[in-house]
Parts: sequence; C-alpha cells; structure tokens
Amino acid sequence: MSDASGRLWAIREVTSRQIRSLPEMARGVKVAETFGSNTFDTSAMKKKLPKSVFGSLQETIRRGSRLEPGIANEVAHAVKEWALEKGATHFCHWFQPQTGLTAEKHDAFLTFDDEGLPMERFSGAQLIQSEPDASSFPSGGMRTTFEARGYTAWDPSSPIFIVEGPNGKTLCVPSVFISYHGDALDNKTPLLRSMEALSERALAILRLFGDKTSVRVVPTMGAEQEYFLVDRAFYSLRPDLVSCGRTLLGARPPKGQELEDHYFGSIKDRVLAFMQEAEHELYKLGIPIKTRHNEVAPSQYETAPIFEEANVASDHNQIVMETMTRVARRHNFACLLHEKPFAGVNGSGKHCNWSMQDSNGRNLLEPGATPQRNLEFLVFLTATLRGVHRRAGLLRAAIASSGNDHRLGANEAPPAIISVFLGEQLTHVLDAIEKGEIGGQAGIDKIGLGIRQLPEIAKDQTDRNRTSPFAFTGNKFEFRAVSSAASISIPVAFLNAAVAEALGEFEAALKDRLARGASLPDAVLAVVKEAIVATKAIRFEGNNYSAEWVDEAARRGLPNLRRTPEALAEMVKKDAREFLARTRVFSETEVEARYHVKIERYIKDIEIEVEALKSLVQTHVLPAAYRQHSLLSSAGARRAISVALERLGGHMDDVLTRVGELQEASDRASAEASLEKRAHLLAEEVVPAMASVREACDRVEESVADEFWSLPKYREMLLLV
Ligand code: ADP
Ligand code: MG
Repeated sequence: MSDASGRLWAIREVTSRQIRSLPEMARGVKVAETFGSNTFDTSAMKKKLPKSVFGSLQETIRRGSRLEPGIANEVAHAVKEWALEKGATHFCHWFQPQTGLTAEKHDAFLTFDDEGLPMERFSGAQLIQSEPDASSFPSGGMRTTFEARGYTAWDPSSPIFIVEGPNGKTLCVPSVFISYHGDALDNKTPLLRSMEALSERALAILRLFGDKTSVRVVPTMGAEQEYFLVDRAFYSLRPDLVSCGRTLLGARPPKGQELEDHYFGSIKDRVLAFMQEAEHELYKLGIPIKTRHNEVAPSQYETAPIFEEANVASDHNQIVMETMTRVARRHNFACLLHEKPFAGVNGSGKHCNWSMQDSNGRNLLEPGATPQRNLEFLVFLTATLRGVHRRAGLLRAAIASSGNDHRLGANEAPPAIISVFLGEQLTHVLDAIEKGEIGGQAGIDKIGLGIRQLPEIAKDQTDRNRTSPFAFTGNKFEFRAVSSAASISIPVAFLNAAVAEALGEFEAALKDRLARGASLPDAVLAVVKEAIVATKAIRFEGNNYSAEWVDEAARRGLPNLRRTPEALAEMVKKDAREFLARTRVFSETEVEARYHVKIERYIKDIEIEVEALKSLVQTHVLPAAYRQHSLLSSAGARRAISVALERLGGHMDDVLTRVGELQEASDRASAEASLEKRAHLLAEEVVPAMASVREACDRVEESVADEFWSLPKYREMLLLV
C-alpha cells in the first residue's frame, strides 16, 4: 500500500534526533597531540626501528624507491610491536582496486609456536607481499579466474595506519595490486608509475637550470571533497538512493538553492558534530583536514585537506570518503558522494589542486624572486599547458563516469570541454612573450616583476573564474572537473604523464638550442614561446557555461565529449595508447583492460538505474496515483474534480507511455552484443528516456495528496536536518 506513514515516521525521527556528542572531544582534544597517532609515522619509526634501518627506510620513502629486502623483517617486527601496543589484532594489505573504492582482507596476527601456544606473528614477507584470492575484482580480462592470482605489495611511500573498529583494531598496509605477470590491477600502480615519469623529466629540466641537489620531483595534490548529508531515515525510504546513490525522481522543492543562503552559512549543530568527529578520526590517521564549509546546494558540504604528495593524497582521499561514510552513520546521516544526488541543485565534484615540488620543498609552479626562478616557472607552467592541450581527451576520459555525466555540461560544474584558465596577469605575460616583447636581461627582469606577486594576486582575487575545468590559482592548478565519488589516482596519473611528456619535449628543445650556442634565458624564452603559440586553443578566460563557448571550442578544435562512452573511447585511440605506454602509465594491454572495466561499469550503472526506476514507478508512483484517482473518482461531480481527474489521468498515461519507451530503448541496448554500442545506446537513448519518465513521475508527485506519497520528498531530504 502506498501511503505517507513511512515518510511521517522519518520526519518524526529527523526532527527529534539527539546530537551525538563525544565527551572526550567536547573537552577539547589537542590536534597536534592526536595527529597521526594511528599511523606508523616518522616519530613511531624512529622510536621502534634501529638507527640504520630507520635511515634506510626514510631514504626509501624520500626517493620513492623500493624497500631493500634486507630490512623488511626488521621493519615488519617494528610495525608489529607498534601495532600490538596500540591494540591491533589483525593486519591487512589495503589497496585501491578498479571499483573506485578500497579493499582489505584481514588476517589475524595469531599463530602458534612450536609448542602449540598462541602467539602473534608478522613477518617481512607478510609486510611486503600478500596474495588475496581476489578473483572477483574487475580486471578487464587481465586475469582469468583459473589464473586468479593477484598480488598486493606494500607501497612504503604511503604511511601504514591502524583503523579502529567498534571492537578492535586493524593494521592497514597501503599496497599496490598487481597480477601474476606484473600488470596493474589497481588505480594506485599507474599513479606511482606516472609520478616516476614526471620526476625523471622534471629533474632533467631542473638540472638544465643548474640544480644539483634535488633528487626527486613529486606532484602535490590537495583534493577538495564535496558531499551531501541526508538523514538515514529518509535515505532508507528511498530505494533509488540506496541502490544508485542518487534520486531518480523527485519534484523540485519550492525552495532549493535559489536564495544562496546555504553556501558558507553557519553550520548546523548536528552536521558540525558529524564533521568534528570525522575530522577527529582523520587526524588520528594523519590526514591533514584543514577546511570545512557548507556548499552551494542545501545539505551539501565540503572538506579540504592540506596538500600532500599525490600518491599519499590519493590514499588519504579514499580514507576521507570511507571515514565520512562511516562516521555519518553514527550520526544517523547517509553521506552521499555521488556527483548528482539531486536534480535541480548543484552536484558534487572533487577539485584536485595540483602542482610539482622538488625534494628541497620548492613549488615549481610558484613564481619566485629571481628572473631565473621565473624562467623555470614559465617552463613548468607552459609544459602543463602543453600537456593539457595535447591530452585533453584523455583527461576527459579519466574523469568519465555515469555520475559525472550529470554534472559536466550542466550549468553548475565545469563543462565537458577541457580548457585552461590562467588569469589576467599571467595572460599578459604570455602575450608579451608571444609578441616577442620580452628578450634579453631587461625583458626577463620585466617578466620577473610581472609574475612575482602572482600567488598574492590570486589569493586576493575574489572573482576567480569558477567555471573553468582547469584553472591556475596563483601557484597551482585546480582540476575541477574531477568527480566527487571517484578515486583521484587515474585523473592525476594522466595529468602527471601529460606534463611529463611535455617536459621531455621541452628538455630536448632546450638542449638543442643550448647546443647551438643559445644562452639559457634565450633558449627558454624561445621554447616557452613555441609552447604558448601551440597551446593557444586550450586557453580560455571567459564563461565556460555559455553556449558561445561550445561553438568557439568547436572552432578551436577542442574535443567536447559530453558523455562517458565517447570520452572513454579516447583511451583506446592509437596515439593515446602509445603515449600511455611511453610514459609507462599503462601498457597497451593494460589500457584495453581499463577501457573494458570502465565501459562495463558505465553499462552496469545505467542498467541498475533503469531497474530501480521501473520499480519505483510500479511500487510507489503508480500506487499513489491510483489512490489519488480513486479519491477524486469518489469525490463527486464538481468541475474542479473532473479537471483534476483529467490532469492526473494525463500524467498517469504519460508515465505509462514513457516507461514503455524506456523499456524499448533498454531492450534495444541489451540486445546489442558489442559493449561500445550498448554503452552508446544507453547514453543516447536510455538516459534521456529515464529523464522523460522522471519528468512524468514528478508531475504525479505534484498531483497526489501528501498522505499518499510514500517517498521522502526533496524538500524534506534537503531541508530537514
Ligand atoms: P581555495 O581554492 O578554496 O581558495 P586554497 O587555495 O587555500 O583554497 O586551497 C585549496 C586546496 O589546494 C587545499 O587543499 C590546499 O592544500 C591545496 N593546495 C595549496 N597549495 C598547493 C600546492 N602547491 N599543490 C597542491 N595543492 C595545493
Ligand atoms: Mg578551491
């Protein structure tokens, strides 16, 4: 039976919730004291490891190199001692399979000694490698089940940590996940490979500038995470949220984000209590959460960390998503990470702030105090332009998912067209270089002056271009088109590789000019100028949401890949495959496998949504309509009633017709054997058919008595906390 009793129950629950407050937190916990207390960080290592082993491990981490097998046992012993003191009973290799989530399989430390007495053991071999029976993870055909062996291997660059469960603790060893043949099965391995490529090429440039001390360059990353919180009582009554992470229907509330009264507004107590507990948990795990605020849509929020090395930032972002989901439950919230949980209000993204840093801690995208420093800055800046320009299609592929399709292209998030925003100041400098207005020492001094204050200017600028998918913000780029739900590993890996490739070209061009007798400043300016000219098309300072930009981008030859299937196709183009293989991010077979996993995932997402929508229509929408119909039918013969009946009947007919059309479209897609073709049919026919069903359902929702509507309404989910 369709009635509102469930909804009313949920409203009562929500409005009478107690705020969960933790006494020890309310007393005030010193962040500096708890920070990293559940990680095997430098201070824990120093305490537990013999001096020489400590030094060797630190060096491994600093250089991003492999662990010497000779010290593995000693490290494992120290890790075990530390973990047991903390009360851990189990350990696991923790990794990022291609589900976008993380995986862990726990093993107890428990074993038996020669006399059969219980004891705890953790060996070097167990620390370094593990073989989960992981045959059910997506591999895109990289592993057949009869040869299901996949190995996890410790990644020493990411700190080991302890997760506190309700009744015990587990030691987690951040790991990569590879096949028996060494193929990457996870999202982390390609990221690490791309970091090596970037480091090599960036170091070579630094050497040309006379840097003899840097041993490594790392990409830095600060991932701003957006999310929604919805009360669990509402969530549990919305089958679409439970199975798809987004609402598939729901009439617009009279008040959404129009008043812009949520953005940066004061945070409600219940939400703040959640944020504080989540941050407390994250601090213990050494995750430097810095910022929290309300976002634009009602019930939407953001959290941002202080930036870290990209691989650590990637693991940490996964932990952020998991921890928020877990802590939200304790506060009777569901944390929605989906890119578009609600139509008609803003969706969620993950702004990936990216730069490069040398091992002396210098930000290579930070303009400096000397002309030489600024020449270097220009090289790294224009190499980034070059990389993004040439690999725009791949960057778009990296962020493609069914969820992000709802966001990119709608007038709220960056569009599907990848372009770069530099800001007025920098545009000025690049234009001057292009026009040849800068040359010789005097000219170089001039650009020095022009860009020296860039970070300050960017900080002061309140009116930054928020519509750009890839914006320079003073001393870093902000890749804004990344999806809220996904791992950042692949987008960042592709970006690193694109820039590495460009730096490699710059290096060759610079060496060539130097060999022909040019001075370093002249060689740099010439190479930078070439890049400025070649990448003009990717630079856009205007409104990325405007219709004119779509036309303009087409004239410039920039790809506009609006939906996932066409975006993913970029990955398997010959040139892209060769590029990924050259930068060692993916071998050609790995790319094929990735493509397969991604396209299959897209298909499954949509197919699940279709089933969920049809079921909502049958079990919620139509029953409510029938009750309303019967109410009206028995209400007498006034004109108002017959008008209402007529209108309701029309909406019901629309629902039926459109569900029929959806069914036909989805049958056509299912009948298609080729995955590519099926994905295209889903994107081009089924997704629009779902939107059309939704529209008719929303009219029904608006036409039936509140007491007949069983699904929590938008106004309730979004506005009641
Ligand atoms: P906003 O973009 O809202 O103005 P900030 O500029 O302070 O905020 O920073 C946003 C994110 O960018 C934070 O996570 C911050 O740590 C990160 N960030 C700052 N500098 C760098 C950098 N050099 N490399 C990568 N991320 C950075
Ligand atoms: Mg930002």
